[in-house]
Amino acid sequence: MSILVYLEQVEGTIKKSSLEAVSYARAFSEKVGGNVTALALGAIDSAELAKAGVAGASKVLHVEDEKFSEGNVQAHSRAVAAAFEKEGTNTLVLAKSSLGDAVAARLAVSLNAGLVSNVVDLPDTSSGFKVRRSIYTGKAFAETSILTANKILSIKKNAVDLKTDGQEAPVEAFDFAFPDIASVRITATNKATGDILLPEADIVVSGGRGLKGPENWGVLENLAAALGAAVGCSKPVSDLGWRPHHEHVGQTGIKVSPSLYIAVGISGAIQHLAGVNGSRIIVVINNDPEAPFFKAADYGIVGDAFEVLPKLTEAVSALKK
Ligand SMILES: Cc1cc2nc3c(=O)[nH]c(=O)nc-3n(C[C@H](O)[C@H](O)[C@H](O)COP(=O)(O)OP(=O)(O)OC[C@H]3O[C@@H](n4cnc5c(N)ncnc54)[C@H](O)[C@@H]3O)c2cc1C
Repeated sequence: MSILVYLEQVEGTIKKSSLEAVSYARAFSEKVGGNVTALALGAIDSAELAKAGVAGASKVLHVEDEKFSEGNVQAHSRAVAAAFEKEGTNTLVLAKSSLGDAVAARLAVSLNAGLVSNVVDLPDTSSGFKVRRSIYTGKAFAETSILTANKILSIKKNAVDLKTDGQEAPVEAFDFAFPDIASVRITATNKATGDILLPEADIVVSGGRGLKGPENWGVLENLAAALGAAVGCSKPVSDLGWRPHHEHVGQTGIKVSPSLYIAVGISGAIQHLAGVNGSRIIVVINNDPEAPFFKAADYGIVGDAFEVLPKLTEAVSALKK
């Protein structure tokens, strides 16, 4: 039996978190047997679809209709349900995200499936079907059993190593008509300004009150530009109007889980940590060696941000030459 993976795309690019979901499904299928089928919706070119094979898919189903390129939750849910039935599977894997959550919730009802979200480990099938999920913004784990025949697992971003040595996977056109759904239609999409969206960013550079004022953000933005990172900030920084609210990271702001989070002049209050502790590597730059953030850091630099940041930016730029 195959495991179905729902792929999300942004402007024709498959999200890295979706490719991680494919790698998760591949690792699971190697444990229990079977294949991995990835479902791609909307305008995505063949080079991009090939990434699913590299990440571990044995086959890619593609609904080419570009109406699916917009993340219409109802249309996507129906397409995934149809693929689930076509593949005769009982397991759907997808990345945890706003769209993924909405799709998974609908499918849990329509497929009568047990849904576990924020999964961080492969299922334990030695007795029943148990999965480990991250809870309380990453501070604890819960062991959850799924009792239904159909199962949906949404995978926490960065919890799985992305497979990079998979085989080329055949792409099959999946003929599924965009459903005529009267209740909701996306009429326009206005994106937040900024080159890299914070929730999706693989690298985030965040500044706190230690940067003293909005006029000093240039040093932080230079490092972010050199790294190809998104820019974030602590809550007081956005409350003070130094930075826009959509950059505010933490319990009451955006939760990020990049591969690399660099916190500059941020003390590391528990409410800030709640939004960043899904990050794979945390680097803290702070002039106070007692700053609480150092306890959560993988690497720390005790120093003045205004001295450290230009040097770091220079070093990163030199590495890229
Ligand atoms: C209900 C509630 C919800 C909250 N939600 C959030 C949230 O979602 N996100 C969030 O961020 N906060 C949140 N907060 C606020 C949180 O408790 C902290 O007050 C806040 O995170 C502190 O921001 P900061 O680290 O930028 O500032 P500060 O605490 O003032 O820390 C500044 C840091 O900069 C360092 N520094 C100073 N000068 C330099 C320099 N030149 N070079 C290097 N380092 C320097 C200092 O040593 C210090 O550690 C919340 C609070 C409450 C009560």
